[in-house]
Amino acid sequence: MLRTRRELRDALAGAARPVGLVPTMGWLHGGHGSLIERARSESSTVVVSIFVNPRQFGEASDFTRYPRDEARDLAICAAAGVDLVFAPSVDEVYPPGFDTVVTVGAIARPLEGAARPGHFDGVATVVAILFALVGAERAYFGTKDAQQIRVIRRMALDLALPTEVIACPTVREPDGLAMSSRNARLSRDARAAAPVVRRALLAARAAWEAGERSAETLRATMRAVLAAEPLADVEYVSVADDTTLEELDAVEGPALLSLAVRFGDVRLIDNEPLG
Ligand code: AMP
Repeated sequence: MLRTRRELRDALAGAARPVGLVPTMGWLHGGHGSLIERARSESSTVVVSIFVNPRQFGEASDFTRYPRDEARDLAICAAAGVDLVFAPSVDEVYPPGFDTVVTVGAIARPLEGAARPGHFDGVATVVAILFALVGAERAYFGTKDAQQIRVIRRMALDLALPTEVIACPTVREPDGLAMSSRNARLSRDARAAAPVVRRALLAARAAWEAGERSAETLRATMRAVLAAEPLADVEYVSVADDTTLEELDAVEGPALLSLAVRFGDVRLIDNEPLG
């Protein structure tokens, strides 16, 4: 396991190419596993980074409560055939005097960008650093964080970073709940209620498949499903253009259904593409 930029650079100096990078915040689950598997299938060297990035958390309490278990993560990486695990300290990623922020424009503003001010600055900055440190041919991200993928693609294109961004499908629990490190913090009742998030998305998808094209009706469909679950505290529901993520009036082309819902102090997001 590698702690410092120097150790990482030395380990990569002789590494077989191509290199595949899977950035994570740890507490690894099947979603991360699918990214690692995809990376393994098309890379000679797989690098997993484990770093709970303080700059992408708005609420300090969300950062401190984020689940961590490095020993468990390392065992999962070893079993999955990961070649290098980079698990740096905060000071190693942001050395003293660090004073640069990567800000992505319009695509980072709505949805998660609006709900979590500064979040995507933190994401784009740490991913730019990881891309520079690892120099991977490809990096793997989950579609569960649909806006994050778009933000990172924009950044990589605009900054001419040579790492190709690969999007991987969302992995779900048998009851439809998207796997997430935050699921571990749900109370028993909230865990039982949480699949309502997926049901809301699927209800809107079913309406769309039946011919409904009013975005407001699709939003109302999601809200109605969520309203039936008393533990679900809705932050937003969205029907947006798939490319720009701007809210739609009518769904005439590819669109993205997405939502953010709180269960107690645990905030979950999910999405479903249309078309
Ligand atoms: P995180 O550790 O939550 O920052 O996630 C690290 C990477 O795993 C990100 O690219 C996420 O989009 C991806 N990821 C998280 N949950 C899932 C999931 N359920 N299915 C697929 N990928 C996921």
